[in-house]
Amino acid sequence: MNSSRTWKTGEHCRISGTYRCLNCRAAGVETIREFEAGKVIPMCDVGPDKDATWRLVRAAPARAAT
Ligand SMILES: [Zn+2]
Repeated sequence: MNSSRTWKTGEHCRISGTYRCLNCRAAGVETIREFEAGKVIPMCDVGPDKDATWRLVRAAPARAAT
């Protein structure tokens, strides 16, 4: 199933926030990383898979414009 709240390695992050690696989760490991919007989603440095799928757990609060 495709979800608009998951991103793969190499894609551009669109929502700053906290992400969980689904590859690791399938193996019973919780791998949590924080990514910023505009950055390229990195590979997971924990699991054996180079192409990881990350799911947004919690979006970061929007920063107030200064
Ligand atoms: Zn992983």
